[in-house]
Order: sequence, then structure tokens, then C-alpha cells
Amino acid sequence: MHVSRRELISAAAAATIASHLPQTRVNAADTASNAPANPATRYIAAYDTESPACLPACRRIVAVHRRLEMPATFFITGRTLEANAKEYKELFSDPLFEVASHTWSHKLLRDNALCGRAVSLDEQREEVFRSKEFIESVFERPCIGLRPAVGFDNALKGAADTLKLIHDAGYRYVSSLLWGPDCSMPALIEPPFHYGPDNFADLWELPGHGWHENLLKNHNRWGARRLTLWPSPMPGAIPNDFVKTPQDEFAVNRVFLEHALQANKPQISFIWHPWSLHQFDPEMKMLELTFTHAHTLNLTPSTYASLHQSLTP
Ligand SMILES: [Zn+2]
Repeated sequence: MHVSRRELISAAAAATIASHLPQTRVNAADTASNAPANPATRYIAAYDTESPACLPACRRIVAVHRRLEMPATFFITGRTLEANAKEYKELFSDPLFEVASHTWSHKLLRDNALCGRAVSLDEQREEVFRSKEFIESVFERPCIGLRPAVGFDNALKGAADTLKLIHDAGYRYVSSLLWGPDCSMPALIEPPFHYGPDNFADLWELPGHGWHENLLKNHNRWGARRLTLWPSPMPGAIPNDFVKTPQDEFAVNRVFLEHALQANKPQISFIWHPWSLHQFDPEMKMLELTFTHAHTLNLTPSTYASLHQSLTP
């Protein structure tokens, strides 16, 4: 068998990297992905932009990203964009940023045990199509991703009609797996997979991870809820109480960043909301702490669009 020098070197490098990684348990999520192996762990900053209070928040957030040259994906609802299209166009047109859809008006595309019931297929059509068309008309570039409102613990697996709408609209990926098993928090560090088993092999699922940070701060006023799994697959990622400071929040993020790297996960991305980040930490100190640590760990800064591109050469 002929093996080129280049193949030998890359095989040796992979073996060296593997031998330096701590032994980690291979869980079902690792083996469930149908994505090709990806040696570099990407860090993706992403924001669900969904209410009027998100505009002043995004001004602060964008400034941090520009200063640290950190890419980001902004998922935005059509209604939020419509209310301040000129302002958002100025903020998000930077090539550092991807703009993707967070539906038209935040209606649910699937039932979520904690957040409510799905709307009718006709309403789903508007959520899926109108947001993409409007984002593309404002930013004059393709909108390839959709993050459904609230997300689900089973992604969109088996949701044939909804997947068909999303596929027909021309999206290339959805980011809908945003909860842990049994609708728990945090969402585990799941890798990408495609919807081939549902007959949409060219539509990818790119999960988000960790806590919906608004829940960590009790910003939804849910109080104490039956929210975590027992036994917990990530006990270190469950703080004893609501977080009180940016440093508390970073301490939770840090567990995920380090676990993603050690377990050689393709990507790590938190579920962040500008309105909630701004209410808790107007100086955006948590962003700075998180981005600096991602940099220290040598994670590859990325958007969801560039993760998608890496999966479909
Ligand atoms: Zn949302």
C-alpha cells in the first residue's frame, strides 16, 4: 500500500494529539453523528435576537466582537429586524458576522414540554419563509440557517412536514437541538448531524449547547423548576443557584469549553440572548472572559455557516 508523506505526517499528528487527550467516555451522542471527523474544535458565539431590548444590547455585543475580532452568528426574528432594519444592517453587515433566522415572530415549530405547543403548518410556513426572505432583502446575502424558537430535545427528527418546509425554503441548516434529554438543561455537547434518516440528507442539524443563559439568571421568572437530569451527565455544569455575576456565568461556560476540547467535539456554542445578557451584564464582561478563554484553549473561532461549509466540501 502506498502512503504519501503527507498522509503519514497527518496520521502521526493525529496520533500525537489523540495520545495527549485525556481518556473520555464515548457517549451515545458521539457515535450518533453522521458527520465526518473534524480535528479542530470550533467555538461559535451565537445570539438569539428576538425582542426590542436586543438592539441596545447588540450595540455592546458587536463592539466586543469587533475589538476581539471574534466572529458570530446572529439569529434574528423577522419582526425584530423589521422594527429596526437600518440599525441592524449597520451592526451586522461586518464580514465577521453571519445573519440567520430565528423565525418570523418566535412561534413554535414543534411542541416543547416546557415552552408550549407548535403552531399550525400554515403559520409555520410564514415563520420559516418570511424571515429568510426578509433577512436576505435587508442584508443582500444568503440566509442559510434557521434556529427555531425555544428549540427542542429531539431536534426536528421525525417532524417530516416541518423539515419539508425548511428544506423547501432553501435553508441549509437548522440549529434546533437546544435541550438535554427529557427537556433538561444544560443541552449536552452534541455534534452536527444531517437529516438523511428523514430523507433530507442535504439539511444539517447544528446543535447549540449549555444553558439558555436567561434560565441561569431566572430572567424568565420560572423560579425553581424540574430542569436537570439525575444522574447528571455533566454535574460540574450545574451551579448550586442562579448565577449572580459575570464571573459566575463564565465559570459555567468554562466547564463546557474545556470539556468540548478534551472530548475533541466538532463545535461548542452557547445559547445566548442579547436582551438577557445586557440586563445582567451591560459591560459584557462575560463575553470578554469567555472569548479570552476560548482563545487560550486554541479553539477555532467560527460561525455556524462556516461549520456548515466544513461539513459539505
Ligand atoms: Zn428565542
